[in-house]
Amino acid sequence: MGEFELIRRYFQRPGGANPAVALGIGDDCALLQATPGTQLAISSDMLVEGRHFFPDVDPEALGHKALAVNLSDLAACGARPLAFTLALSLPRADEAWLEGFARGLFALADAHGCTLMGGDTTRGPLNICITVFGEVPSGQALLRSGGRPGDELWVSGTLGDARLALEALQGKRSLPAEVLQAARQRLERPTPRVSLGQSLRGIATAAMDLSDGLAGDLGHLLQASGCGARLDAAVLGTLLAAHAASLDEAARLALVLGGGDDYELLLSAPVAQQAAVQAAGRAAGVPLTRIGRLEAEPGLRVVDAQGRQLDGRYTSYDHFA
Ligand code: ADP
Ligand code: MG
Repeated sequence: MGEFELIRRYFQRPGGANPAVALGIGDDCALLQATPGTQLAISSDMLVEGRHFFPDVDPEALGHKALAVNLSDLAACGARPLAFTLALSLPRADEAWLEGFARGLFALADAHGCTLMGGDTTRGPLNICITVFGEVPSGQALLRSGGRPGDELWVSGTLGDARLALEALQGKRSLPAEVLQAARQRLERPTPRVSLGQSLRGIATAAMDLSDGLAGDLGHLLQASGCGARLDAAVLGTLLAAHAASLDEAARLALVLGGGDDYELLLSAPVAQQAAVQAAGRAAGVPLTRIGRLEAEPGLRVVDAQGRQLDGRYTSYDHFA
């Protein structure tokens, strides 16, 4: 199977494209027709074997995750997905692998009306780079920089489960089979909060998705918004879905704050928007938890029920640290 046969067989699909895609796969460029009054929201994420996934990972899960992490960035900005490109470096044209990868990729793409409109295919170490294109009404994108002291901080879903699974798969801890199974779903098949992000436009003052761990990611939001934050340790301890009962609070906090690969949304909103935030969560079918608030004093403070500041250093994933 040659390069063009591979593209035709696994990635070119007849019909059903998002109407914004005026021209899809097959020419030198694809053409994307933006809706008047909107801005294009664009983001790229690369997944590298051995760095972002294990060599033996299920290709269907990998296809899902490669797009999910990109859709999560659109969600964070409150953008509606339109289309994406796929740059793929493959060691060989393995039919079973390609079939599984395409199945996982297109199941998620179709669920969000997001069309594969082009890409590049080359032989090399396994490496998957997707660029997504979404649209958002002009001036309404959710940014990291809009948070203000007094705003409440919220997160969607659960945190730390993906990290728990990663540590088990790396042999750093042992988990009962059913706990690993559930946590592994969170690691390998994250759910991008696409509809939640769009519902939060006009409600959240700042938002971002959590890919590297709450503590570090929140640090970026704090820096962009020019403020600090106080987080409630007792609430954070409840955010881990899997295995919570058999871990002490310090272990749960380390997973929740240092986690990574959660792909949940972190947002700030004025106290007066509490009901609107909760309604957005209900509409999107995702639980939202209030974890603390923004403060004028710079820095991140994690505080227990007695108001004592916990002195653990919580760090996030950094590829070059
Ligand atoms: P060019 O040489 O002009 O860059 P290519 O020969 O690499 O184009 O690709 C041919 C067509 O197939 C282009 O429209 C390109 O966007 C598309 N394409 C290549 N690889 C992929 C892929 N992995 N997924 C989707 N479309 C692809
Ligand atoms: Mg060309």
